This record gives sequence, C-alpha cells and structure tokens, in this order.
Amino acid sequence: MKRIAIVGGGIAGVSAAYELAMQRQAGVPVEFTLLEATQRLGGIVETERRDGFVVECGPDSWVTEKPWARELAVELGLEKEIIFSQDERRKTYLAENRTLVALPDGMRMMVPMQWASVLNSPLFSWQAKLAYLREPKLAEQLKATALDASSAAHDESVRNFVHRHFGAEVADTIAAPLLAGVFGGDIASLSARGVLPAYVALEREHGSLILGLQERARQNVDAGIQAAPIFSTLRNGLEGLIEAMAACIPASSMRCGTTVEVIERVGDRWRIRGASSKNVEDTLCECFDAVLMATPAKTTARLLRPLDAQLPELLPQQASSAIVVAFAFAAEWAQSLRIPRGFGFLVPQRSQAAAIMPDATQENLETLAQRALLACTFIDQKFFHRAPPGAVLLRAFFGGAAAPALLQEDDTTLLTLAHTALGRIIGRLPEPNFALVRRWPDSLPLYPVGHLERIQNLEDRMAEFPCMRLIGNAYRGVGLPDLIHAGRTAAREMTTAVQNCNL
Ligand SMILES: Cc1cc2nc3c(=O)[nH]c(=O)nc-3n(C[C@H](O)[C@H](O)[C@H](O)COP(=O)(O)OP(=O)(O)OC[C@H]3O[C@@H](n4cnc5c(N)ncnc54)[C@H](O)[C@@H]3O)c2cc1C
Repeated sequence: MKRIAIVGGGIAGVSAAYELAMQRQAGVPVEFTLLEATQRLGGIVETERRDGFVVECGPDSWVTEKPWARELAVELGLEKEIIFSQDERRKTYLAENRTLVALPDGMRMMVPMQWASVLNSPLFSWQAKLAYLREPKLAEQLKATALDASSAAHDESVRNFVHRHFGAEVADTIAAPLLAGVFGGDIASLSARGVLPAYVALEREHGSLILGLQERARQNVDAGIQAAPIFSTLRNGLEGLIEAMAACIPASSMRCGTTVEVIERVGDRWRIRGASSKNVEDTLCECFDAVLMATPAKTTARLLRPLDAQLPELLPQQASSAIVVAFAFAAEWAQSLRIPRGFGFLVPQRSQAAAIMPDATQENLETLAQRALLACTFIDQKFFHRAPPGAVLLRAFFGGAAAPALLQEDDTTLLTLAHTALGRIIGRLPEPNFALVRRWPDSLPLYPVGHLERIQNLEDRMAEFPCMRLIGNAYRGVGLPDLIHAGRTAAREMTTAVQNCNL
C-alpha cells in the first residue's frame, strides 16, 4: 500500500490528513501518517474555552465569501455550529492620538460603498475625498494600466496599487492599518497580487474598484442574493474544525510530538527522520512514497535546502510575528468599561524603524508595546456566543517591526503592557477575570512584490519531485478557507499521483 507523510499539523496539514482519511474510507488503498512537532493539532488555530468565554488564540473567523471552510464544517456535521459576525454592529475605529475615530460606514476595506459616509468622515482631508470621487471617472485609464493577469511577473506593492486608485492619504490612513491588522507587514513591500487578488481582478474587469463593487452589489440584488455577513466562525470556537477532522483520522495515522528533522530521497521514496519531543529513544526513520509539507516557511526552507539549494530562496524570506493578548471581563466588571459600539479598532502605523530599542527598561517596553499594538477586537460585539451576557472580551493583536522585541517577555509583563496600551486608547481597564497571552513567532509570511511569480517558479522546480507538495500559508493565501482548500486538493492530487506511478 502506498504511504503518504504529512509534515505539520496546522489547519493545512490536518485538512490534508482528513481528506486522506476520507479517501481511505471510500476504499482508496493509501496509508498516511500526520507528523506534528507539538502535542496538539491545529497550529495557529487554537481555542480556549473558559468560564463561559470562547477565546480564540489565533484566527477568530473565516471570510464567508470563500466557500471551503463552510463546506468542510457542513461535511463534518457542524452546520448548526456556524455563526456569523454581527454586521449590523460593524464599525471599525482608528485610534488617532488616543481617541477612536470611526471608519466610514459601508467600507469594503479601503473602497467606499456609501458616498455620504466618506464625504462626511473627519478621517479624510478634502483632497482624499476628491480622490475618492475621482476614482470612478478614471475607470478606463485604470483598466488600461491594470496588472496583467497572464503574467505572474506583473506585480506592484499594495501601497502603489491603492495609491493609483485613491492617492497616498487613503493608502496610509486606511489600507496600511487594515492590512497590518492582518499581516503585520508594511504595505509598501507587500505584493498587490498576492495580498489583494480580488481587488486586482476587480481592477482588470472594471478599472474602478468603486464601480466594480457597485456593479457586483447590483448583480447580487438582481439575482436576489442577500449580502452575507462578512465573517463566519463556529459557536464553540474554530478549534472545533480541527477536533472534528481529527476525530475522523485514525489514531494510528497521527504522530504528535514528532519533529521532522530530515527529508531525503532514497531511490523513488522519501525517508523521513525525526525526533520525539518526549522520548529521546523514540526516533522516527521511515520511508514514504509521497510527502505533503505543511510546515511554516522557515522550517520548510530548512528541510528543502539539502534537496535543492535554490528552493528555499523562492519561499517568502520574511514572516511577521504576532502576539495575541485577550482580556475577559465578567458582566459585573464589564459595567465600568466604556467600549464603543463596534468590532474594534486599528492603530495606524507610525515609523516602526524607531521602535527597536536596545535596553528593555519598563518605559521602553511600554513604548514598544504601544508601537506593536496593531488592533484590538471587541470580540463580544463581533460575534454572539463568545462571552456570557453582559460580559466583555477584548483581544489585542501586537505585530509589525516592534513585535519580535516583545516575544521574549514573560506573560505577566506582556499582560501588563497590553493592559496599559489598551487603557491609553479606550480608558483605564479594570483587572480582568482572566487573561491569556499567545505568541506566534514568524507566523505570517509576508508576500513581497513578485511573490506569485516566485511561487510559480517554486512549483515549476518542485516538478522534479513529483511526489512532494508544499501546502500552508507561505504560498497562495494565509486565510483558513484557502488553506483548507489547498490541503484537501493537494491530498487528492497526491493519492492520484501515487496510485498512477509505479513505485
Ligand atoms: C494571530 C493570528 C490571527 C489570525 N487570524 C486569522 C483569521 O481570523 N482568519 C483567517 O482566515 N486567518 C487568520 N490568520 C492566519 C491563519 O491562522 C494562518 O495562516 C493559518 O492558521 C496557518 O496554518 P498552517 O497550517 O499553514 O500553519 P501552522 O498553523 O503554523 O501549522 C504548522 C504546523 O507545523 C508544525 N511544525 C513545524 N515544524 C515542524 C517539524 N519540523 N515537524 C513537524 N511539525 C512541524 C507546527 O507545530 C504547526 O503545528 C491569523 C494568524 C495569526 C497568527
């Protein structure tokens, strides 16, 4: 029987393993082993359920528009568990000089869908408002200069892309903090094609992003399609997806606590060597017909280097680190909080270069934390069922250039820093009923300009190894739906490949 190894048990690897388990159930003669370094599956997907709160330590939702997470949840019998963002409460603020200024209503990222709210917004100068008004008139010109779909080499930075449509102020005021809140990166170096593929496609079709979104909204109305809530998640937390998939994977096909150290070609097969995190005697040395690598970019680069020294160069070279700090306030404490109605706030990026300070005095740490604070979500308002009635759940997201300097601080220090940093923006916070900290070092690969071309080159080069595939957030999307889709597709392709080749 053909054997497939999956290295890495984050959402991408577990989705691949689940797909292989389904294939086996359907009678496909294939064996597989999921190798995960830590003792738990899920990678960045982790939910803590405590005192009636559901706290997401990593991702908190998926984008409803992409179907693959919902499809998976339905297939796993979790349809009734799916809940949506409370979009009627959707308001996002920018923290400007310690005060919260609301982003205009009806924005689709940096693209307005309601003129009045943009024109009345105190966030923009009249020049920025004029730039918004002008964009639809530039449709033909923008279409003529749109990024070429047929050439992966044709790319530009996100900042450039937004600047071409709406000018510098909109790029820096809205696009930068919005994308920093997702990637922790600088829009001047992020790839427009890698990070905003839907907007790039919209530009190709309509030139103007405003006209494109208006046209799409009209088509939906004509077709009787109601606007869906933007975000979906599971009532009891996203780790429920991992748990439900894991329940379908035979225990004999999972090996947690095993760090893969070497992957080498032996004849037509792959020999994988690894070490157990618990028992030094329990080493792994097994041969497989195919390998699905679902590890973070840095690990993948290290494992691939001995096979082909060029491959690691084609992977994203930089990844941002994130720190999530959540504060849970039970109803009696929450009463003293003055949290505005909305989903949360974003913090505009200041000059991050100055953020790295050599000596870690408390004062410097506080400055670092303020600079690293990218966003805070008012979780109990974004989703129902995340906190008991009347309670408040806040989740702060630290990232960007200042975050690595905070990673080594202990939990108590990080909690104090986060408490102070949030307090400066939304008013002094009482002590929470409980709080938690999660560090995700190098967790979000930054797709630089030209990313998709490099990934194309990587995939072309990988053709040398027909029974090895790379999945995970370093390639064609960091969001959960994309990773579920990529994991399941790669697993299906791999079973076909190993069945067809005479190994
Ligand atoms: C704070 C945060 C918030 C986010 N919010 C959202 C959101 O709301 N919605 C959304 O769609 N996306 C979100 N994302 C992005 C998304 O969560 C990630 O892109 C995704 O979870 C990554 O999954 P993965 O399987 O590629 O990698 P990972 O989850 O990093 O999994 C990789 C796995 O490989 C294992 N591993 C590493 N080395 C080895 C080795 N040598 N041997 C064996 N195993 C190894 C690791 O232990 C890990 O379990 C967020 C990300 C972060 C950091």
